[in-house]
Amino acid sequence: MSEQTVKQLAETVGVPVERLLGQMKAAGLPQGLEDDVVSDDEKQTLLAYLQKSNGEAKESAPKKITLKRKQTGTLKTGGGRGGRTVNVEVRRKRTYVKRAELAPEAEETPVEETLPPPVEEPPVVEPEPVVAAEPEPVPEPEPEIEPEPEVEVVAEAEVEATPDRPLTALELERARNRDLEAARKAATEQSRREDAARKEDLQRAKEQAARRAEEAAAEAKRKEQEKSAAPKETLAEQAAKVQAEVQAAEKGGKRGKDKERSGGSKPWENRGRSGRGGRRELSLKGDKRRSKRRAAMPSVDMQGGEFEKPTEFKQIEVEIGDMVGIGDLAQRMSVKAGEVIKVLMGLGVMATINQTVDQDTATLVVEEMGHVVKLVSEDALEQEHEETLKIDGDAESRPPVVTVMGHVDHGKTSLLDYIRNTRVTSGEAGGITQHIGAYHVEIPQGRLTFLDTPGHAAFTAMRARGAKSTDVVILVVAANDGVMPQTQEAVQHAKAAEVPLVVAINKMDLEGADPERVKNELSALEVIPEDWGGDTQFIPVSALTGDGIDALLEAVLLQSELLELQAVPEASGRGVVVESRLDRGRGPVSTLLIQNGTLSRGDVVIAGEFYGRVRAMLNDKGEQVDNAGPSIPVELLGLNGTPDAGDDFSVVADERRARELAEFRADKSQAQRQAMQQAAKIENMFANLGEGEKRVLKLVLKADVRGSLEAITQALADIGNDEVSVQLLGSGVGGITVSDATMAMTYGAAIFGFNVRADGAAKKLIEREGMDLRYYSVIYELIDDVKQVLSGMLAPEIREEIVGTAQVREVFRSPKFGAVAGCMVIEGIVYRNKKIRVLRDNVVIYEGELESLRRFKDDVQEVRNGLECGIGVRNYNDVREGDQIEVFETREVTRELA
Ligand code: GDP
Ligand code: MG
Repeated sequence: MSEQTVKQLAETVGVPVERLLGQMKAAGLPQGLEDDVVSDDEKQTLLAYLQKSNGEAKESAPKKITLKRKQTGTLKTGGGRGGRTVNVEVRRKRTYVKRAELAPEAEETPVEETLPPPVEEPPVVEPEPVVAAEPEPVPEPEPEIEPEPEVEVVAEAEVEATPDRPLTALELERARNRDLEAARKAATEQSRREDAARKEDLQRAKEQAARRAEEAAAEAKRKEQEKSAAPKETLAEQAAKVQAEVQAAEKGGKRGKDKERSGGSKPWENRGRSGRGGRRELSLKGDKRRSKRRAAMPSVDMQGGEFEKPTEFKQIEVEIGDMVGIGDLAQRMSVKAGEVIKVLMGLGVMATINQTVDQDTATLVVEEMGHVVKLVSEDALEQEHEETLKIDGDAESRPPVVTVMGHVDHGKTSLLDYIRNTRVTSGEAGGITQHIGAYHVEIPQGRLTFLDTPGHAAFTAMRARGAKSTDVVILVVAANDGVMPQTQEAVQHAKAAEVPLVVAINKMDLEGADPERVKNELSALEVIPEDWGGDTQFIPVSALTGDGIDALLEAVLLQSELLELQAVPEASGRGVVVESRLDRGRGPVSTLLIQNGTLSRGDVVIAGEFYGRVRAMLNDKGEQVDNAGPSIPVELLGLNGTPDAGDDFSVVADERRARELAEFRADKSQAQRQAMQQAAKIENMFANLGEGEKRVLKLVLKADVRGSLEAITQALADIGNDEVSVQLLGSGVGGITVSDATMAMTYGAAIFGFNVRADGAAKKLIEREGMDLRYYSVIYELIDDVKQVLSGMLAPEIREEIVGTAQVREVFRSPKFGAVAGCMVIEGIVYRNKKIRVLRDNVVIYEGELESLRRFKDDVQEVRNGLECGIGVRNYNDVREGDQIEVFETREVTRELA
């Protein structure tokens, strides 16, 4: 609620723009046009002024403001002769107690009084809106009325903005109070109390609704008999009309003389007048619940107390799930969102059309507006879907899924590479299947699947999402280094996930290898070797020479036999998303691990919030396959988006169902995200308001693949305490764009690119604004940096620096060099002997060295900006036109972040 125009503010508080402008002018504010912007401070000024001018801020009793509002109006409905005049009064009284002055018990904000003593209003014996007398444009046509039964309605709106000053001031103040209060979350106690109050409200509203339901039933019956073709006007619309008329009616009401003026006393005119403030009621026979309130005010039922009600109001059964968007909610009730927002404001919730509210709040709103709530079990769709996946067929044993964990540099990648190269891709060109993220191994003793995820954090992130994807963890510990921090972490993760460990004591080929030390140190973590009487296998290996790798695989198979892993191949395929990314040529590509059943080409699949028909499936060797069974990883083409790593996927009966389910999930997660964003905002405010200097590192993070992104997000979330924290303002998969940079600029955030780069426009903006941009390719380093920044110790660092970039213009095949890229150096200098990365769409797809650097026919050591050259990349033949080859070096850089 920070910046608003005068017009918006006027809408929000429900006063005419002109009046608001007048008030603002009187308060000494500069705004003169309806499009002028009003700041929070100015709202305060206005508020203060209004309070003073309302005399409500009298020194004697400024702590408590009692507000009585009443609106009366007449509606002509039904049109023509069958029309009916409906008098509507909305009245309420609220006492607002200033929070600051309160004793703790009384701290509740809007103290609603049950009995509005309607004293000070002169009686109105005037059912007709006094339009004639008022210059205001009230669309009330009602001079010649036939003695039709008049229906009196009291819409018991608890809250509604009224176009009156005190309310304006109050609404403003309330809005502000709410905001501040949210910020000062310290008052958790208070919020609990509020909850209680809300529950009360809810209860009340529910009772009301129950009552209304009864009314509705009665009405429906009557309606049938009447068979009058009434226009379909919702209560809300009526209310809106009424409100438009209210001012006129009110003013008229106060001027007693108006009744004379309004011409001839009609027989029905006095009927239904309570004689007090012109209260008109919708009297319900047998309405006992309200009796207490009613009893205080003599009400006159019309027509011998027979109840009649405008037939036009159509009570709707509104479905409400866990969360609902305000726009949605309005739509479901066929009202404008503004109506809903108004009601919400009355409930003390400041919201915009794009926000979501929880079920309780939505219930209140719906009932407030006279409709009935139908709480839908959100998961009905999911449950139905789950039913369809019920297994039929015989369970068979399935291969184990293995994840490799361990401290950095202990040899995880080497081990995976060794296994992959010797067992899987022997003869295959490496480097073509980037990021398949998982692969399958067959040895004479059995089959295994390796999840090649970015390590612990990814494992945790997946686990946090409830995805149990790993059966066995191989814990790699370097024999020359022993147990290190991340080794401990890995043990904790595995234990928490109840996944058994097999320890690979790596680097046994080295001089200083000391397997006994590893056993000792792991025993201290309660990972006890078998030969010491424990249940964990320790296998000495060398990822360099390959010694012991077979024994390690056998050990893993042995371990998994104990787990008796089973699956039903005939069932519908389901499993977990390992990785997903957007490929320019192929569209969304997801790596899936099938955990049960079989996935086939042509199946309709839902994965997280996305769905699609399986267009193509590739195995870990990049070959097309038609079917994939339990524990098999595949790359899938055909989804309409990139699901998150750790999302479930499953086969769905048909596309329609899949779409429904996907939409449902998307809605749900959007609602949750919004709720989280709101929470984040509040926390942010809190941080700013706090006395202590909480250091909040703001980041915009982009990464090459989902898995990395989630791993980093998870790890960042774990950093921080009362004094420091990381706030992720934005994150996503793909290169860094201008919109990322703009976001970072706006909020003073640093930008981190993980295996991605900024595009040209973004780079310019970042440079111009002197923003912080950092590139990483190792999660651990990124996290470490953040920790250091937060602890205020950003020392000179060894950093990568990009020294040159070349753009691939054409690719030649040469028998001698393989693929040679004809390039133009577009930035800096390309050096023959420095490390390089290949970027495609600003995402790193390969890292390595140059095989050759030539100008014309000559080998050269460097090529400068603006010159053409031929580049061969060692071990990498997949270079394409449009790729960029980035040359970098590591050097010491002193930088200060944020
Ligand atoms: P990661 O960080 O756990 O993935 O470790 P890497 O696989 O990247 O290995 C880190 C370093 O240790 C690399 O330089 C590897 O060549 C080296 N290394 C890995 N395994 C062995 C091994 O069994 N013996 C020796 N001598 N070096 C190894
Ligand atoms: Mg590694």
